Amino acid sequence: MKNFFCALILLGALTACSSQVKQTSTIHDVHAHFQTPPSKDGEDHVDDPAIYVNSKDPSKSFVIATNKSRIGGGLHLYDLEGKEINFVADGRMNNVDLRYDFPLKTAKGIEKVDLIVATHRSQKNVAIYKVDANARRLINVTAKDFTFDFSPYGGCLYHNHQNNKFYFFATSKDGKVEQVELVDQGNGLIAAKSVRTFEVGSISEGCVADDESGALFVGEENVAIWKYSADPLGGTAREKIDGVGQYLVADIEGLTIYYGQEGKGYLIASSQGNSTYVVYQRQAPHGYVGTFQIASKGTMEGTEETDGVDVTHHALPHFPKGLFVAHDNRSSKGGGSNFKFVSWEQIARGLEK
Ligand code: CA
Ligand code: CA
Ligand code: CA
Ligand code: CA
Repeated sequence: MKNFFCALILLGALTACSSQVKQTSTIHDVHAHFQTPPSKDGEDHVDDPAIYVNSKDPSKSFVIATNKSRIGGGLHLYDLEGKEINFVADGRMNNVDLRYDFPLKTAKGIEKVDLIVATHRSQKNVAIYKVDANARRLINVTAKDFTFDFSPYGGCLYHNHQNNKFYFFATSKDGKVEQVELVDQGNGLIAAKSVRTFEVGSISEGCVADDESGALFVGEENVAIWKYSADPLGGTAREKIDGVGQYLVADIEGLTIYYGQEGKGYLIASSQGNSTYVVYQRQAPHGYVGTFQIASKGTMEGTEETDGVDVTHHALPHFPKGLFVAHDNRSSKGGGSNFKFVSWEQIARGLEK
C-alpha cells in the first residue's frame, strides 16, 4: 500500500517518496453496515468495543462495549447487526478487552473460560467476567481484593502463550501504566496481582498487546504510539512507532491488531482529531500502510471523533473476511454516541490496492 501511495505521489508531484511526504488524498472511504442504538441520554457515554468470536457458532458472536456514564455505566452487549442483547450494570467502565481459554479451576476440574476485562474508573479496579457463550451473557468473576492507586482509564489484555499467563495493562490520565497478572484464586474468582508499573509521560488510554510477538503498543494521546515489551520484566525500554503530526492527529485513541498469517497483519489506530483510522504493518518496523475513514452513505452515517476500535479476522455472518467496530462520537440526527460495524473486506480493498 505504501508503494501505491508513493506511486500516486510520484505521479502527481514528481517528488521522491519519503517518510516526510505529507498525507494528501490517500484517505480511503469505507461505509458501515450496521450501527448500535445511540446512548440513551444523548451524551457521549460509550467508549470502547471488543469483538467476541464464538468459534463453535459464529452467528452467536457479539460485541461488548463500555459505558462510562457515572449513572448508567456498565457493559453493553450487541449482536452482529448492532442490536442490544444484554447490559451489565456494573458501573463506570472505560475500556474493555478479551482473551480466550483462561484455565479456571472449578469443582469439575479445569474449565477453559473466555475472559472479558474492563477498566472500572470509579472503583479503581478491573472488572473480570467469564463468558457464557450460549446465553450470551457475562458472569462476574472478579476477586475484589485489588485497587490501583490511580483511576484506570484505558486497558488491554496480553496472553503469553509460552507460559499460559494472562495479564492486563491499565493506562491512566497521568501517563502511568500498571501491568497486573490475572491469577486464579481457586474459588471460581480471578484476582489481579501487580507485576510492573512504568510511566509513559502524559495522558494515555488506548493500548493493545500482540500475543504472538509479545509487543505492547500504548497510545500517548497527544504524542505518539509507543511499543514496549508486554513481558513483566520488559522494563521501560520503548520504541516510537509514529508521532502525532503526519498521519496521526491528537488524540491518539483506540488501538487494535488485525492478525494475519505468519506474523503479518496490521496495527490500527484511531486518529481522533481528524476522524480517521491509521494503519501500520503489524510486523516490525511497523511501517505506515494507509488511512481510511468511515464515511456516510445513504441513511448510514459516518464516524466522527472515534474513541475505541476493535477488529477481528475471523469470518462472521455478514462479515466473511472479518469485522471492524468503531465508536462514533456524533450523530447528525441528534442522538448520542454509538458504534459502527464495517466489513474488513472494504478496508482491505483500500489497503491492498
Ligand atoms: Ca477494546
Ligand atoms: Ca481519551
Ligand atoms: Ca457520526
Ligand atoms: Ca476513550
